[in-house]
Amino acid sequence: MQTVTILGATGSIGCNTLDVINRHPDRYRVFAITGHTQIAVLMQQAKACAPRYVVIADDTQYNEAKKLAKEYAVEAELLCGSRALEDVANAPEVDIVMAAIVGAAGLLPTLAAVRAGKRVLLANKEALVMSGALFMDAVKQSKATILPIDSEHNAIFQCLPRDFCYGELERSGIQQILLTGSGGPFRTRELVSFPDITVDEACAHPNWSMGRKITVDSATMMNKGLEFIEAHWLFGVAADKITVVLHPESTIHSMVQYVDGSVIAQLGNPDMRTPIAFGLAFPERIDSGVAPLDFATLHDLTFTTPCYERYPNLKLAIDACKEGQAATTRLNAANEIAVQAFLEGRISFTKIAEVNAETLNTLEPKQVTSLQQILEQDRLARETATGVIRGLS
Ligand code: NAD
Ligand code: MG
Repeated sequence: MQTVTILGATGSIGCNTLDVINRHPDRYRVFAITGHTQIAVLMQQAKACAPRYVVIADDTQYNEAKKLAKEYAVEAELLCGSRALEDVANAPEVDIVMAAIVGAAGLLPTLAAVRAGKRVLLANKEALVMSGALFMDAVKQSKATILPIDSEHNAIFQCLPRDFCYGELERSGIQQILLTGSGGPFRTRELVSFPDITVDEACAHPNWSMGRKITVDSATMMNKGLEFIEAHWLFGVAADKITVVLHPESTIHSMVQYVDGSVIAQLGNPDMRTPIAFGLAFPERIDSGVAPLDFATLHDLTFTTPCYERYPNLKLAIDACKEGQAATTRLNAANEIAVQAFLEGRISFTKIAEVNAETLNTLEPKQVTSLQQILEQDRLARETATGVIRGLS
């Protein structure tokens, strides 16, 4: 029996994680679930999975949460605040931590799980993007196990040789990583109409059902850019060994190309329960509830190269990856601010990339290594991006 903490239980990944866990009551027990806004959903989840702790990230909502806990007859202990998120991530009783908070808010609890040497199922890509080397050094030191939940990185992990050593592509005969992406809902839309893109249009992904931030990131392809940086850190792969390939059907979730001409791909229906089940059970395989791929109805698998004019955010992210830590931390922070402004109707779709570029251009190059410096760059970039947005209106 393995004990699991789910950071960000109320989100899309969190709900899918509970779905997989519910299918295997003999294997997994929930220790803690955490949420930020949808407190009623969190309490319903607590009622169903009976964790020991329920954590509300925002302490101003404690009274409301207390009331709802009583209403739903939740027996779990109610904790709140950012410290409590870390406490349930590194508690000695916990074996597995699902890191599924969205954005930079997930960094400290995810790092807490890493430093405690847990098996960390990493969905929260922003945490890795903003802290790269520091995060991976902590993994090395604590001997934590990181299993990628992002479907692309999960696919790459599955396509790498079992004895793959971090960063040693040549030794494993690997030529390059092929990172696939659907291209989002605007892959064929006329560029001239991009400024008119509405929030509803950007939030309607053709293949995947996900939280709003990542859905907008998929439409701008910043998501693929963040994943490019994520792949660089997770597997120790240089930027020139990662190629982004557009694959609109989202059937292949990524590939590894070997020097002998072989390409190994991982295929499946676009459903996050596959990588979640993989992460929970590795190296075993368990039922995830995902329908098997039906090759009788599977038609074309198509591939193209992304165009940076259509996806300027992808170029910004690849350049930031080559530039270094300060750039990726800043880009991630600026993007969170810009996407939020777009979702709130304060800026147009095309301004997201403009705010990101302007933020990166405004700030001087800097060496960033410590956690304190990373958090400072994150804060600075948020402030700068907010100023850029104010200047636009
Ligand atoms: P979501 O918006 O559906 O859920 C986010 C979760 O984080 C919620 O539980 C929310 O309460 C919590 N949260 C939000 N702000 C918080 C804060 N300030 N402090 C503490 N908790 C906070 O997002 P999602 O789609 O589930 O994505 C979660 C993470 O997984 C993201 O980093 C995303 O990039 C990554 N991811 C998601 C998918 C997917 O299919 N949804 C796929 C790959 C990677
Ligand atoms: Mg992904």
